[in-house]
Amino acid sequence: MERKVRVRFAPSPTGPLHIGGVRTALYNYLFAKQNNGDFLLRIEDTDRTRFVEGAEEYIIESFKWLGIKFDEGVGIGGEYGPYKQSERKDLYKDYAMKLIENGNAYYAFDTAEELDKIRKEFEQNKKNFQYDCNTRQSLRNSLTLSKQETEDLLKNGSHYVIRFLFPKDTTIEFDDMIRGHISMESNLLDDKVLYKSDGMPTYHLANIVDDHLMKISHVIRGEEWLPSCPLHVCLYKAFGWQDSMPQFAHLPLLLKPDGKGKLSKRDGDRLGFPVFPLQWTDPKTKEVSSGYRESGYLPEAVINMLALLGWNDGTEQEIFTLDELIEKFSIERISKHGAKFDLEKAKWFNHQYLQHIPSKDLATLFLEELKQRDSEIDFDSSKIDLQSITAIVDLVKERCSFEKDLWEQSYFFFTRPKTYEEKAVKKRWKEGMTERMSDIFSKLNAIEDNSWAEKAEEFLMDYIQKNELNMGQVMNCIRLAVVGDTKGPNMVDIMRLLGKNEILKRIKTAINNIHL
Ligand code: GLU
Repeated sequence: MERKVRVRFAPSPTGPLHIGGVRTALYNYLFAKQNNGDFLLRIEDTDRTRFVEGAEEYIIESFKWLGIKFDEGVGIGGEYGPYKQSERKDLYKDYAMKLIENGNAYYAFDTAEELDKIRKEFEQNKKNFQYDCNTRQSLRNSLTLSKQETEDLLKNGSHYVIRFLFPKDTTIEFDDMIRGHISMESNLLDDKVLYKSDGMPTYHLANIVDDHLMKISHVIRGEEWLPSCPLHVCLYKAFGWQDSMPQFAHLPLLLKPDGKGKLSKRDGDRLGFPVFPLQWTDPKTKEVSSGYRESGYLPEAVINMLALLGWNDGTEQEIFTLDELIEKFSIERISKHGAKFDLEKAKWFNHQYLQHIPSKDLATLFLEELKQRDSEIDFDSSKIDLQSITAIVDLVKERCSFEKDLWEQSYFFFTRPKTYEEKAVKKRWKEGMTERMSDIFSKLNAIEDNSWAEKAEEFLMDYIQKNELNMGQVMNCIRLAVVGDTKGPNMVDIMRLLGKNEILKRIKTAINNIHL
């Protein structure tokens, strides 16, 4: 019988969730959904020294915002719970004992000071210390002490750890779905700690026990865990679980924009982009790190961007809905190389998704912003209605990557120019322009109100031609008068939306106020 696909995202609540972690979760999610499988959220909080208040809630809220749903896990429940390792604490000891009994693990009584001393001696001889096949025989552990000594130490409550005993002279082999065949010599490996006398398992033990008990079929996780994988493979063997061992897929790193090294929290702050899904305030230092949500990104855009950081479907297609991603995603097409984070691309994705939001919906949000900006608005803001704002949004949306860009792209619909962009004035409002604009003013004034903007445009084209002027000379001056700057959408669209009275008022003000 084919094995049911069950994958998990297993973050440790040590701070805000890095965007690379979100990508790991997303790939797990896509793989699960594609295979009608289950996607679990397990919180790996056995290392209490690294526990950070609020991090677990942050993780849950992040996925809520992104619209990625778990089938089982913390906050949801399920038949393999509890899904928080601190709540499973009691079950790990038995598994550690099993390994002691079957000779795959041993007690080590060396104190931190003792190990430090040895480490220093090694360093002096330009060697790296490892608790391994070369050193374990000369250290204080149940392999070197007599049975009685070991029992006495345990009885009188001495501090101990349980370490994995790597088999000697063995090649550990496994297949990674992304990296292919991997082999590692057991003699090179450190006898990692699995369990501590404070009653807590380490990541390695808890992770393997839980993946087994939760019937995980595939472990899809970041590349930083690849060096631990030989130990994990050995643990499955030591427990006699090799037949149900999950398949492994280690994802390439997310790199800094220049490709030099792993994308870190500091890069985001330094280069001006978020590396966390949501804004995070460090509970101790109160330091605030920016989030995609608060920076105005749409969750769909973030998902699409992350999906393509390290994966593509083999075509040029870049925009994928979540359903399309579920359909097309494949672990085989995940790149082996690190993926460079690209801020411009992130903005591009948001721009694409923003265009798909109906203008009316954006206008509703924008209307709220305009209420806040009431004091900046030169018109009776109670007359600003959804219909007129929708028309404005329609016009400027294409120039916006974020909802918050709407104001920057359309403020001139709500405020009259207070100043005129200096460079443009110098370049455009040449000698004689005041007289010419006065002439244009009276002609525009004479045009009937009905379809005024279209008729005004027609008149201006005609005027430019007849007087052998160039387009830029005239239109840019009108733009300068109306907008205060040389930017903005088509002039005729602005004229239509602002209407005859307002446009003429602004041209008049400019004539009176622009002095060469
Ligand atoms: N708790 C580990 C982490 O924080 C999980 C690694 C794994 O998926 O095995 O990334």
